[in-house]
Amino acid sequence: MAAIEIADNLQVVQDRIARAAERVGRDPEDVHLVTVTKTRSLDDVCAAVEAGATDLGENYVQEMVEKAEALADEEVRWHAIGHLQTNKVRQIADFVSLIHSVDSFRVGEEIDQRAERASRQLPVLIQVNISGEESKFGVSEEEVLPLAEALESMKYLRLVGLMTMPPYCEDPEENRPYFVQLKHLREMLIERGINAESMRHLSMGMTCDYEVAVEEGATIVRVGTAIFGPRQ
Ligand SMILES: *Cc1c(COP(=O)(O)O)cnc(C)c1O
Repeated sequence: MAAIEIADNLQVVQDRIARAAERVGRDPEDVHLVTVTKTRSLDDVCAAVEAGATDLGENYVQEMVEKAEALADEEVRWHAIGHLQTNKVRQIADFVSLIHSVDSFRVGEEIDQRAERASRQLPVLIQVNISGEESKFGVSEEEVLPLAEALESMKYLRLVGLMTMPPYCEDPEENRPYFVQLKHLREMLIERGINAESMRHLSMGMTCDYEVAVEEGATIVRVGTAIFGPRQ
């Protein structure tokens, strides 16, 4: 896609986020856009960065590492948004800004250890499978509290919220209940003793439904197609 189109699309998404926030009386500054760059060429990613994208999201570790090296001179933050295998954590632990997809104690423990070696705090979100069996990854609602308690006790891993991904994306209104559910889950966790700071972020909403997600309290939306066009 031409750089100018990518820049225009990015602007449109940013404007829509701001308007969705304003509709419900939220400060647009409280919503962060992660530009999802999976499968996109370096040229396209650079065009987005030139146009002001500051936060980039990748599903696969290998692809993130390659792009991060190529963009080493740019001021961008990298977000790991895909299912993360324990043996891949090492490759991103020293530079990734936020891991959205922690779904087990084991991967949390590995992140904590790798962060310690990298002498840093590493912020993470718990991925919740809010819709039940239809989507593959993420922990069930019942599993979130014990996992959040375990992650909160870790020294280098820093729990900062929840992430979810609804199973389908056709009618954004169909996904509203899932976003409401994630918001309620956060409130329940805080009532049960999880620190509010550990529940600061809700990463929810993609191309098809990010405006609805913002209306329901998303602090992070992850958008690819609306910025770069359809993936191959
Ligand atoms: C691909 C992907 C997105 C972005 O999807 P679009 O529909 O292209 O906006 C967001 N989150 C996750 C976890 C993804 O894998």
